[in-house]
Amino acid sequence: MRQLGAAKRGVIVTFVMKLPRLTAFARASLALVPRPGRLFQDTSMVDRSVRVRARFPLAAALGVMLAGSIGVGSALADPPAGCWAPADYSLAPGERTPRRATAADHVSVPNAAAPGLPVLPPYAGVVRRVKLPDGVKLVALTFDLCETGGQVAGYDGPIFDALRRANVPATFFAGGKWLETHPTRAKQIAADPLFQIGNHSWDHANLHIDDLGKVRREILTTETAIADAKVAAVAQCPAATPVSHDRLFRFPYGTCSQAALDSANAVGEIVIQWDVVSGDPADIGAAAIVANVMRQVKPGSIIVMHANGNGKHTREALPLVIEKLRAAGYGFMTVSDLLHAGTPVTVPSCYIEHPGDTAVYDRKAAQKTSAVSHPGNAL
Ligand SMILES: [Zn+2]
Repeated sequence: MRQLGAAKRGVIVTFVMKLPRLTAFARASLALVPRPGRLFQDTSMVDRSVRVRARFPLAAALGVMLAGSIGVGSALADPPAGCWAPADYSLAPGERTPRRATAADHVSVPNAAAPGLPVLPPYAGVVRRVKLPDGVKLVALTFDLCETGGQVAGYDGPIFDALRRANVPATFFAGGKWLETHPTRAKQIAADPLFQIGNHSWDHANLHIDDLGKVRREILTTETAIADAKVAAVAQCPAATPVSHDRLFRFPYGTCSQAALDSANAVGEIVIQWDVVSGDPADIGAAAIVANVMRQVKPGSIIVMHANGNGKHTREALPLVIEKLRAAGYGFMTVSDLLHAGTPVTVPSCYIEHPGDTAVYDRKAAQKTSAVSHPGNAL
């Protein structure tokens, strides 16, 4: 009996470890099945919860069926095999860290995408985490790819390598400008079934403002950049099935005005913050980043880190974060999949850890000293 129990546990563990690729494969399979409007593409949140309940068990069930019948690992080469040579994932000299932009780095701001339909409860407001069914231990790792005007931010390649190596899904909140100044990396991320791209504004503007025209431009031009990256990914990599059409938005610096928040929801963006602050922009070392995550994490957590070179020790901390979370029984999902697995926990305003704690960034923006640099735990 003990052997049988161990065998069963082994099967369950194997399934959980493979779940990201299984759901990715199920998603790819489902993409072949005609569905009204691809279900999640720019659609209203009105009856979303019904769709979500219908979709996730189906994906998991398909994954279970497929797991028994195919060689999942080889079928789900990550990203699809043949799109890039291994050397294409290697870091170029100086690529990891942010630098000052030159005239050669100029990119044009694309046209604004059409707004999505308004986000309604329970997704309206600011999502900080997800309430999951009892006993389900899942978290979402998120990495910001912030890029301000006047700089070309970094591509912290070891972070992507670590996620791929460990088969861990993640969500990248990318500046539209970052995507345009890193076209190959944008394609590689968009082509990867492990990775979801969210929206982090065009050029990391402080949107604690009431200029709703600017808020909409920052959001909707970046939606175009995200869509363009997915199109380019599929053009290069026809087997790619870019992850999720949900529109997820993260306000730069973790700050927003009420009007800006309402405007983001009004143009179809689910606003995603976090409940676990890694603190990785501060030079605190890998051990402290790991400790910060493990102290705050709970089922349904959304963890914020950086993959644009602003994280001083993120690349060293990440393998340990993954190892310790797995040892504590956690699995990983993209933000969209996490949302689909439970109920969003929302608040009515933006903040880093406590209401009002973004005031320092708002004062800087008001004084037009808004930082190109990312001091402290800047987001
Ligand atoms: Zn940011």
